[in-house]
Amino acid sequence: MHAIDRDPLLLTPGPLTTSLRTKQAMLHDWGSWDAAFNHITAEVCRQLVDIVHGAETHVCVPLQGSGTFSVEAALGTLVPRGAKVLVPNNGAYCARILKILKILGREAVELPTAENCPFDPLAIESALMADPDISHVALVHCETGTGILNPLPEIAAAVARQQRGLIIDAMSSFAAIEIDVRTMPFDALIAASGKCLEGVPGIGFVIAARDKLAASAGNSHSLAMDLHDQWIYMQKTTQWRFTPPTHVVVALHEALAQYQEEGGQAVRGARYRANCAALTQGMARLGLLPYVAAQFQAPIIVTFHAPQHAAYDFQTFYQGVRERGFILYPGKLTRIETFRVGCIGALTPQDLVHVVDAIAATLAAMGVMGARGATDAMAVV
Ligand SMILES: *Cc1c(COP(=O)(O)O)cnc(C)c1O
Repeated sequence: MHAIDRDPLLLTPGPLTTSLRTKQAMLHDWGSWDAAFNHITAEVCRQLVDIVHGAETHVCVPLQGSGTFSVEAALGTLVPRGAKVLVPNNGAYCARILKILKILGREAVELPTAENCPFDPLAIESALMADPDISHVALVHCETGTGILNPLPEIAAAVARQQRGLIIDAMSSFAAIEIDVRTMPFDALIAASGKCLEGVPGIGFVIAARDKLAASAGNSHSLAMDLHDQWIYMQKTTQWRFTPPTHVVVALHEALAQYQEEGGQAVRGARYRANCAALTQGMARLGLLPYVAAQFQAPIIVTFHAPQHAAYDFQTFYQGVRERGFILYPGKLTRIETFRVGCIGALTPQDLVHVVDAIAATLAAMGVMGARGATDAMAVV
């Protein structure tokens, strides 16, 4: 096969394929003290708060690092020492929250749920009623480990009824799936530059209720991860505390401009749904079926059962699809062999059709399926 002189398309949940404009925004150098740069930071924060309609009640605190840094910072800053957190768990990112809480020495109550089932808001409400010491619920909105969407509006209502705080890891849903703080109240929401906003990775951010953040001084176990300190410093100086990832900030600013031009959350979400439909329909024709039932599937990333065939192995499959111009993602389930395909990034449904073609050609070359599509041997169990 001849080499293709372009970057492969990333079918992954971040880093993901970005537009040329977003990449070109990184061709300049910025000073961290410079007013023009700090104006961009302020502008980005304002726009991020507006995406969840939080201008009246919430503020945005950006933090250097990948998304997990901001999850850890939010939990460490907003959950007081001695408080107790309910963590509904249906996947790898929920488990990561449990691990963070353990390391931070914050008590956690796990509410285990099968990985192919969304959380039950009633079960969450019952757990809160049963234990008045629980002060917060830490919720993963789209569990990127499987691609399942958890019912945020109903859970936010249940948590509000029980007068506890809600901290949402909306890393892979923010800006693509509707989140409105006026109707889905939360203490804090965490997301990052390199997911559905289609920026490059390097910044996480926390959209926090101003009153809750103001009351959080001294909670954090850490200097660098103290969101309260980062917020106060930024308000005082307009600057980032410690060296900002300048190129990532200006790329995010440019990515946000394109997000608005595209039509914002509703239109971006619709494009991802179209991507997801093109993917799952094409894969179904190959006999490759999703792990998550269609009604629970977020249009962000799809987990597929691996072909049940002796000639299949993920490494060879991955390499073959990569040589055809696309980067897939390994599965994250421990007991079932799967792989994942992302629907997010600067991609169109046509790109997803091409991904399916590359997958079919690779599986044919591996002898896993006939050149014209699925065989009976591929039936998923
Ligand atoms: C991407 C993601 C994170 C952050 O992961 P990083 O590797 O730190 O960027 C956290 N939660 C969810 C649900 C995610 O999709």
